[in-house]
Amino acid sequence: MSPSKPRSPSTPHRQSQGGKDFRKRMQHGKATNTAAAQQGKPPRSGNPGAKAAIILKAGREKSLQRRHPWIFSGAVECIDGAPCSGDTVPVRDETGAFLAWAAYNPASQITARVWSWSEQESIDSRFFRNRIVRALAARRMLDLEHDSNGMRIIHGESDGLPGLIVDRYGDVLVMQLGSAGTEHWRDTIADILRQLCTPICIYERSDSDGRELEGLPKRCGVVHGQLPENTEVTEHGLRFAVDVAAGQKTGYYLDQRDNRALTGKLSAGRDVLNCFCYTGGFSLYALRGGAQSVLSIDASESALELAKRNVELNGLDASKAEWQCADVFDALRKLRDQNRKFDLIVLDPPKFAPTAAFAEKAARAYKDINLLGFKLLRPGGLLFTYSCSGGISDELFQKIIAGAALDAGVDVQIVKKLHAAADHPVLLSFPEGAYLKGLVLRVQDTGA
Ligand code: SAH
Repeated sequence: MSPSKPRSPSTPHRQSQGGKDFRKRMQHGKATNTAAAQQGKPPRSGNPGAKAAIILKAGREKSLQRRHPWIFSGAVECIDGAPCSGDTVPVRDETGAFLAWAAYNPASQITARVWSWSEQESIDSRFFRNRIVRALAARRMLDLEHDSNGMRIIHGESDGLPGLIVDRYGDVLVMQLGSAGTEHWRDTIADILRQLCTPICIYERSDSDGRELEGLPKRCGVVHGQLPENTEVTEHGLRFAVDVAAGQKTGYYLDQRDNRALTGKLSAGRDVLNCFCYTGGFSLYALRGGAQSVLSIDASESALELAKRNVELNGLDASKAEWQCADVFDALRKLRDQNRKFDLIVLDPPKFAPTAAFAEKAARAYKDINLLGFKLLRPGGLLFTYSCSGGISDELFQKIIAGAALDAGVDVQIVKKLHAAADHPVLLSFPEGAYLKGLVLRVQDTGA
């Protein structure tokens, strides 16, 4: 096994959803999340002759004392010395007292990300080895190997490695660097992963949109070994081909593993609609679970091709599967106009609100698809609805869905609340780590 995960000024995951996604719609609104809008001015210089340090404004040490690992530019009084991007620097309060060791990034709104709270700790290869060993041990303890040979082995901030995501697909590791600090330590991290996990390949997918916000260029390619022609992951007994080099994110969405299994369990005899299906994750579970029919929709042609290959790979009944390459917003309206009905619907859209600045527009989008989803469900039907937006809280998400149900004129029960799988742990002091929230909803049978 091995580790993975990161993020940028708002959410730590699911960055590059690629292709035709909702961000394009957002650009027409005022919450344009361009790198320029997100990147503040570099922090003010303090004493250039002094040793490098980040000095906080008076009273701005509180979130660090609560062990939140980000230092926002607004909290910084000045920078002493002349540190470079990615350098490890001490963070001090206005009296000069030590608070943390952090990786500096003058180009980001997050001026620094904390490596360690201990003044005695050296940030060196031993430090990274210890953190990676700890992340691997935490996964081993969870005994997840049973469920899958795919696993997020490092989940950024929540594993004490801000900006670093490592996903494992069998013998292949995919590493994503999302911060100046991880960029600085790239070779060390790759070397430790190679030694500890003995993968046949480490592939770098440092091409998340978040990198722009960090002032880092995108970079992809083999770091170690050779990428096999076909990479696969076996999850709850289902095989999925993973396009490590060109797929979205690191190639596959490991976070939904257990939620997909639940969908499979509840699919027997049902007409299922899977929106934003990517490579067919929820669709394959539904087919194996005995669904009567599964209609899957995604805007990415290449994702759908892989999805169809995945159906074949598992010997599932392709005649029950229908695929549509379309914009879900349009497709749902067409299905409504055709009076199509389903018993189980999955809505797993890309990140509509990467930051809170997007929340309002994103809320409208979530409401739109969920309202249509409710209208397409037969009485007694189930809606699996998700948000992976860091800018949308659990409470806000539930409120949006409640508004959608009200407008759709249906009474709805929450059957279960869902989150990312256990290999995506959330550090208590870093609630941003809980980016994925899901609700299983049951539309009440009005006649009952
Ligand atoms: N449920 C999937 C992951 C979904 S990721 C799984 O379990 O693996 C989100 C998907 O939404 C991506 O495949 C992306 O291509 C697709 N997408 C983004 N915007 C879209 C849109 N407007 N219409 C249809 N698909 C879209």
